[in-house]
Amino acid sequence: MSAFVVGLDVGGTSMKGGAVTREGVVLHTERRPTPRADGPDAVVAAIQAFILDLSHIPPAGTELAGVGLCVPGLVTPDAALFSANIGWRDVPASAFAPEGVPVRLGHDVRTGGLAEAVIGAGRGVADFLFLPIGTGIAGACVLNGSPYAGATGWGGEIGHTPVYPDGEPCACGQRGCLETYASAASVARRYASRTGRTAPTEEIAIRAATGDDPAATEVWTDAVQALSLSLATYTLLLD
Ligand SMILES: [Zn+2]
Repeated sequence: MSAFVVGLDVGGTSMKGGAVTREGVVLHTERRPTPRADGPDAVVAAIQAFILDLSHIPPAGTELAGVGLCVPGLVTPDAALFSANIGWRDVPASAFAPEGVPVRLGHDVRTGGLAEAVIGAGRGVADFLFLPIGTGIAGACVLNGSPYAGATGWGGEIGHTPVYPDGEPCACGQRGCLETYASAASVARRYASRTGRTAPTEEIAIRAATGDDPAATEVWTDAVQALSLSLATYTLLLD
């Protein structure tokens, strides 16, 4: 009997799921909203339902071998320990899937780094930093082909390295964090605070590039400088 796995990436806004054969053939992909506003129990229930639906996608005669589930926050392979974003604490992996189906949990960004190492831009490269910049900023430090989680699971949280001492306050409690200046959400927020108008981050970047919007130039320059400082520190630390 051929086997397939269900993969699910749970973000603060949406969940991206798919059914994939053992050979890596993607049978189906789907996106659903994350019901974060309804509380952590509702998110767990939505994940369960999503996994159940995806497990019925492949044709009869194929067997669900297991589930790979990426979640934000502090996570071990066997439990989602904590996520400020979703609000859960200590949810065992087994709570997410139908009974008897093996589930392995992974940190969302580190799993992204692992995917780049195995099938993406990091193939054939032993050490690299995977740094997605979105609503927030977190990195996966891939060493010898494996994402490095650190002693307590926070390895790679480069978004909260302070780059401007005494800078703007960050949600983490520190000041001047990289994420406070260089994430897409922060660029948009800082631009809005200067101009009183909201604009998508890509529009702010274009305005900065054309040079005819001083607020866009200031915000974008701060973001690039913050990112440069963090990456310079990171590079010297590792190599
Ligand atoms: Zn921070």
